[in-house]
Amino acid sequence: MNDKCPCQTGESYAVCCQAIIEGKKEAKTAEALMRSRYTAYVLADINYLLNSHHPSTRPSKDRKKILKWAKSMEWKGLEILACMHGKEDDTKGWVEFKASYLEEGEPQEIHENSVFVKESGRWYYQDGEHF
Ligand SMILES: [Zn+2]
Repeated sequence: MNDKCPCQTGESYAVCCQAIIEGKKEAKTAEALMRSRYTAYVLADINYLLNSHHPSTRPSKDRKKILKWAKSMEWKGLEILACMHGKEDDTKGWVEFKASYLEEGEPQEIHENSVFVKESGRWYYQDGEHF
């Protein structure tokens, strides 16, 4: 894929989220992990979504349901509104974002403040609060 990365950094997928999603590189910041997870939703990469979800809150629903859900949505864009902590030296971070998508043709939006934690050098999505 030579296209621009779905997470809208303006970079190509190859230099943006690809290495993180493929496990060749760790996300350095909570924001980078957030972006890679958005991209994984766009690509319906359920393995990556589950692996980057903290085990304590990881959904136990069966993967087929999650995959079906991810594929029923057409993602339209990601907007990072705010980041708190979540830098390389932190172990916790918050990222507020808006993601828009079409579900069965209807425009929808998620506005969430996500919590990320870092353990053994890896960032994980923990949970989020919806607005
Ligand atoms: Zn990206």
